[in-house]
Amino acid sequence: MAVADPIARLVKELAKLPGIGEKTAQRLAFHILKAGPGYAGELAGAIAGVVRDVRLCSECQTLTDKDPCAVCADPRRDSRIICVVEGVPDLLAVERTHEFRGRYHVLHGALSPLDGIGPSELKIRELLLRLEREPAEEIVVATNPDVEGEATALYLTKLLKPLGVKVTRIAQGIPMGGDLEYADQVTLARALAGRREL
Ligand SMILES: [Zn+2]
Repeated sequence: MAVADPIARLVKELAKLPGIGEKTAQRLAFHILKAGPGYAGELAGAIAGVVRDVRLCSECQTLTDKDPCAVCADPRRDSRIICVVEGVPDLLAVERTHEFRGRYHVLHGALSPLDGIGPSELKIRELLLRLEREPAEEIVVATNPDVEGEATALYLTKLLKPLGVKVTRIAQGIPMGGDLEYADQVTLARALAGRREL
C-alpha cells in the first residue's frame, strides 16, 4: 500500500478487528484522519479506557466498571434464581426482554473439546463457589441451542442437580415470524417437545 507509514500502521491495527477487511480498514483510517485530532483523541481515549476500567464482576463475572455490577448490586433482583449465559451479549439480550428479574452468571464461552475449551476454561468454578456462598433455588441454563451450548447445558445439569438446585433450560422452537414449513427437523421436534398448554 503506497501510503504514509502512520496510515499503514493504523490500517494494519484496524484490520485485526473482527469483520474488518483490508478495504474497510483503509476506509476507516481515512475517515479518522479526515475527522481530525479531536475525534482521534476521543477514540484513542475510549479504547484505552475500556481496557483500563472494565473488569469482571466478582459475583456474576459480567464485564463491569463497578464491582459488584449493577445487577448484582440491585436489591430488587431475586438472588434465588440465576440465569447462566455464555457471554455478555446474551445477558444483554435477556435483559432487553424485561422478563427476567433474577441474577446472572456469565460463563465466557461454551464447552468445545475440539477447540480445547473444557470446564476449567469457563467460569464454572466461580458459579459453584457462588452457590456455596449463597445457595439458589433455580438455575436457568440459557446457553445457545447449538452443539457447544447443549453440551454445556448437559454438563451443568449433571454438576448442579446433586446440589439440590432446580436446573431448567430455556425453551427452544420456532422463532417469532418464522415459518413452520421451513423449520428444520431438530427445531420443530424441540418445539413440539417444549409445547405448553394454552
Ligand atoms: Zn454481577
